Amino acid sequence: DNPIQRKPAWIRVKAPNSPIYHETRTLMRDNKLTTVCEEAACPNIGECWSQRHATMMIMGETCTRACSFCNVATGLPKALDADEPRRVADAVAKLGLRHVVVTSVDRDDLADGGAEHFAETIRAIRAAARGTTIEVLTPDFLRKDGALEVVVAARPDVFNHNLETVPKLYPTIRPGARYYHSLRLLDRVKQLDPTIFTKSGVMVGLGEARIEVLQVMDDLRSAEVDFLTIGQYLQPTVKHAAVDRFVTPEEFEDYARMARGKGFLLVSATPLTRSSYHADRDFAALRDA
Ligand code: SF4
Ligand code: SF4
Repeated sequence: DNPIQRKPAWIRVKAPNSPIYHETRTLMRDNKLTTVCEEAACPNIGECWSQRHATMMIMGETCTRACSFCNVATGLPKALDADEPRRVADAVAKLGLRHVVVTSVDRDDLADGGAEHFAETIRAIRAAARGTTIEVLTPDFLRKDGALEVVVAARPDVFNHNLETVPKLYPTIRPGARYYHSLRLLDRVKQLDPTIFTKSGVMVGLGEARIEVLQVMDDLRSAEVDFLTIGQYLQPTVKHAAVDRFVTPEEFEDYARMARGKGFLLVSATPLTRSSYHADRDFAALRDA
């Protein structure tokens, strides 16, 4: 009677086996890169990697936080790998990506939270793949004064930071983070550089009420956040937070409609939406519009 096994029909995904999926996998291995697609056991890996859309995870595989929804290992991370930005940029160039998403573990152990490493990675990608738009999905840089400014100064095209859930659930789902700190972070990005698109996302099915999700949307719009993602939370292992319920496709459609009505420029709200799901396609469509 394990809730992990009882997924509704709309959650089923295709097994990854296309030739391009294997090409993407080989390139990640050869460049010794970590991806959130694998670390988070993302259900979309077959679809995304078959289109060469992979989300790089920099600064190691070990996180200093322990969010109860997340499959990434917690502990004391290794020292930063100074060559990593170059290898990420090389992979982006080889994959020929229009848009790349770069994320990381939290590095509370570093004085700058890893901000300079993020900035280095952005600069390396710009140099190696001029036409590729860059989206960063960053930690919250809690108690890391000046860190945000360093990342913003490197001028990513999209600055993404996920609120993950409604404020009520922070103590159990996102301990170590602060809802209003994360919201302010997004607000400050816009104030520092209004030309950068900002983006955030939440998971649903964790015990939140519809009205609370709508309030998060309003909070994000008051911080002038441009893009929103909403997806079903899936429990990675029995040690992680349990799924409270599976939100129906109709409810997702309602969230998407509400979000567009509130003025988000890009909205992805489906059961399998993840922070980086279709980010390449959606951003390209916006850019070309
Ligand atoms: Fe990777 Fe994001 Fe696609 Fe999942 S949705 S496979 S994390 S790119
Ligand atoms: Fe996972 Fe990010 Fe939380 Fe670390 S901070 S445990 S990588 S969600």
